[in-house]
Amino acid sequence: MYTGGLGAESGAVWEFYSQRRAQGALAQPNPAHIALAELEKRMGERFFLCTQNVDDLHERAGSVRLVHMHGELAKARCGDECGAEPVTDRTVYKSLSEVGRCSCGARMRPHIVFFGEIPLEMGRIQQEIQKATLMLVVGTSGSVYPAANFVHWARQVGARTVYVGPEPPLNAGAFTHVVEGKAGEVMPGLFI
Ligand SMILES: [Zn+2]
Repeated sequence: MYTGGLGAESGAVWEFYSQRRAQGALAQPNPAHIALAELEKRMGERFFLCTQNVDDLHERAGSVRLVHMHGELAKARCGDECGAEPVTDRTVYKSLSEVGRCSCGARMRPHIVFFGEIPLEMGRIQQEIQKATLMLVVGTSGSVYPAANFVHWARQVGARTVYVGPEPPLNAGAFTHVVEGKAGEVMPGLFI
């Protein structure tokens, strides 16, 4: 079997994400992460968070009702997509030979959505947007699809749509409110 290429389970990919795991362990939730977790405590089941971040800072801040549409740094899954569930994996691998195998025999790959792959949990995300009365979008460029379409889906069901970020996104026209500022500075006071 050829294992030296740039496939999702390759050594170069694992080296890259191992580095990110090592760095991620040192990071701490910022005031925006904490503000979202506090908002969830107040809203309960009515709150839903979809993040493009692959780190676990939202979880560490206390968020529970969330999905990671681009995957999670702290998980691995079957490199052959055999259907086995992703597993928790925070190991910083030094070589490909240390990386474990799925019960089907395939080498594990990072549970990360790579360029050209379909984002995760799209059905759940669509369902939640269908129910939305307020959508808050924080700090994205508005240029990466399908996420850049979420605001349009929310508008179709009549939701208010609020953007928070240091500069207006490319799809700024789709928002009912654009709040310019750093998320860590703006978010803590937004829902008081
Ligand atoms: Zn498998």
